[in-house]
Amino acid sequence: MTINLADPAALAASVQPPTRALIGGRSVESASGRTFATLDPATGRELAQVSECDATDVDRAVAAARSAFEEGPWGRMAPADRKLLLLRFASLVEAHTDELAIIETLEAGKPISDCSGIDVPDLVMTLRWHAEACDKLYDQLSPSGPGKVGMVVREPIGVVGAVLPWNYPLMMAGWKIGPILAAGNTCVLKPAEQTSMSTIRVAELAIEAGIPDGVLNVVPGFGETAGAAIGLHPDVDCVAFTGSTEVGRHFLRYSADSNLKEVLLECGGKSPVIVMADADDLDAAAAGICEGIFWNGGQNCSANSRLIVQHSVFDELMERIAERSRDWVVGDPLVPETTVGAMIEEAHLEKVLGHISDAREAGSTCAIGGNRVRQESGGWFVEPTVFTNVDPASRLAREEVFGPVLAVTTFDTPEEAIRLANDTDYGLAATIHTTDLRTAHLASRAIRAGTVAVNCYGEGDITTPFGGFKQSGFGGRDKSIAAHEQYTGLKTIWMEDRKSTRLNSSHTSI
Ligand code: NAP
Ligand code: MG
Repeated sequence: MTINLADPAALAASVQPPTRALIGGRSVESASGRTFATLDPATGRELAQVSECDATDVDRAVAAARSAFEEGPWGRMAPADRKLLLLRFASLVEAHTDELAIIETLEAGKPISDCSGIDVPDLVMTLRWHAEACDKLYDQLSPSGPGKVGMVVREPIGVVGAVLPWNYPLMMAGWKIGPILAAGNTCVLKPAEQTSMSTIRVAELAIEAGIPDGVLNVVPGFGETAGAAIGLHPDVDCVAFTGSTEVGRHFLRYSADSNLKEVLLECGGKSPVIVMADADDLDAAAAGICEGIFWNGGQNCSANSRLIVQHSVFDELMERIAERSRDWVVGDPLVPETTVGAMIEEAHLEKVLGHISDAREAGSTCAIGGNRVRQESGGWFVEPTVFTNVDPASRLAREEVFGPVLAVTTFDTPEEAIRLANDTDYGLAATIHTTDLRTAHLASRAIRAGTVAVNCYGEGDITTPFGGFKQSGFGGRDKSIAAHEQYTGLKTIWMEDRKSTRLNSSHTSI
């Protein structure tokens, strides 16, 4: 397929997204036969009817994953062979970049330039990175002394459930299935119901690549039914969740109420960006601030949604932000120039608009934007919006909006900035702009967040762990070797030869 970005309608018509569950290597209807509608956030129109899986389908998928784990070759395969299959899978995904990008743009309302230039390439890179890790990680021998051998080995956990959000459907799928499969586990994945089709297509490609049936199963459906069934399932050994903090809490309860499965949570954020008066490039800072809040329409867990700026540079920085915000163009997600797509669904649009009207009522100043736009499209678009004079105790400063809405507060001293940055229940990411080395050291250590970026908006890369402190996460990290290891269990294999221990100790003079 050759992508023709000049003709959005032809683009949309060029794909036939899959809509059925994928269980045990087969494309199947849900057991109930029920389906639900997937809508295009850019037009509000129905794209397709997707199989609605519930607890019965989750049972089927877990049984397929269990038998692929226990009886199939996957868990016991030589790591080098697993690596080759995962590399083949990554290459097939790469060869289908255009198709996957179009499906994702249609169902998530994300700009096509992001989907084809960032999201799908990130998925390919993540699969490759974890595939390469398969046969390069060594186990350990304990320093236990003569006659004793303590082998400390990592083994796959077993069947891992993954319950995912809609904001970066393919990227989040990669961050889970890359390390889950590379570590030798099998997986039952539930995408967010708004964005199932791109993930189902990826799982089809896994099968085409030769990954054995049952290793990767996808059960589209709703959280309260399919998601809860994964969380509560007695034969799921671990569940990896990305989504809101509120739903994350349910998974801890599900585990406690079922089999004490391991729980890994990547949740929400209200991440601060601090600009000190000594930051030497306010224009670059403004560009990073706009990227941090407007990328993906602010539907980003690590969006820098709170700007904390030193009084003396407030006016100048706001001028630069006003200029830079014009680089963020709201438009049809299928048009390559569009950099801000639609909010995922009507209820979410209403939530974002509710935050905007609350902020106005609370006395904050709407300095940029503040409106729903492109209403005639039938889609759910909000323009880049910036509020100043935001009271740190107000809703806008404390709650995750998950839209393109920046809350600006000022400060006088570095200590005040750090106190404001930490004045949140969340702790996913933070940024500080400063040229003072001492301030950079102090702030990067003092801010309670999983990632602290200095003089840039950035989340690190695949080699660095990603996840949150406080209520932004629990139990683990995505990306890096940390992600690979969290999908393994530590086992001690202990061997001791008592005779040789006695012999050895009789020769020891100390
Ligand atoms: P969400 O509402 O928490 O949903 C996430 C997933 O959980 C969906 O698949 C959802 O299913 C499912 N779910 C909902 N209710 C459930 C229940 N009672 N039991 C079991 N599963 C349930 O989050 P979202 O709106 O999709 O995504 C936005 C959130 O994700 C934001 O808070 C954002 O910060 C967070 N996020 C975090 C990261 C990170 O790495 N920290 C990355 C991306 C997003 P359905 O919606 O299909 O019903
Ligand atoms: Mg949802």
